[in-house]
Amino acid sequence: MLIVVSAPSGAGKTTIAKKILERFPFVKFSVSATTRPKRNGEIDGKDYFFLTREEFEKKIQNGELLEWEEIYGNYYGTLRSVVEDALKNGDILLFDVDVNGAISIKKKFPDDSILIFIKPPNIETLKERLKRRRTESEEQIQKRLERVPMELEKASYFDYIFVNDRLEDTVKSVLRAIYNEFERWKAVQRHEY
Ligand code: ADP
Ligand code: 5GP
Repeated sequence: MLIVVSAPSGAGKTTIAKKILERFPFVKFSVSATTRPKRNGEIDGKDYFFLTREEFEKKIQNGELLEWEEIYGNYYGTLRSVVEDALKNGDILLFDVDVNGAISIKKKFPDDSILIFIKPPNIETLKERLKRRRTESEEQIQKRLERVPMELEKASYFDYIFVNDRLEDTVKSVLRAIYNEFERWKAVQRHEY
């Protein structure tokens, strides 16, 4: 089972993903590869595998990535090995990927993936959250905002859409949706045997 969370940058998906992992400790996080610089507090191998452009391009050429995108001038991608190991072990994986990555995963695993889109209440709030996070320069924030219309357009591909206004409420709704999916999944598995 693959749970995919996407959102415009700053909408709150990393915060929500952490809550999902806390509430459901058996869910494993799919650690992506990226060429973007490490933020304060991020750990290589836990938050991302931080690679150089050369290393990333080699992985593309070797077919080691299940999907990859160039976003805000950096590469981001899902390692094929992470997903193959999870499927082999019957693990439940959580992905934090962009909208295009989410759609690619759905295309590859239509019956096993759940796509969750986190929307900001409005663009002003999104800007404020990005500024308050203080992890990107003004120029980087601008690049992130330019991508928002395309991201909102693709929300229609998702199974669930949540507006992240009050964090507590959003987390509750997301956890409930995932819990219901687990129950549905278990019922399907029982039926198959
Ligand atoms: P993303 O992973 O989507 O880029 P983050 O989870 O890093 O977003 O959230 C962006 C910033 O907004 C963080 O500083 C986070 O603490 C804050 N944040 C997240 N959700 C909310 C919310 N509902 N209300 C106010 N601030 C929030
Ligand atoms: P950030 O730099 O804020 O961590 O992430 C920027 C964007 O890249 C986010 O939308 C995030 O979900 C996306 N992202 C992270 N990992 C991957 C990945 O493996 N594949 C794709 N397609 N997008 C990713």
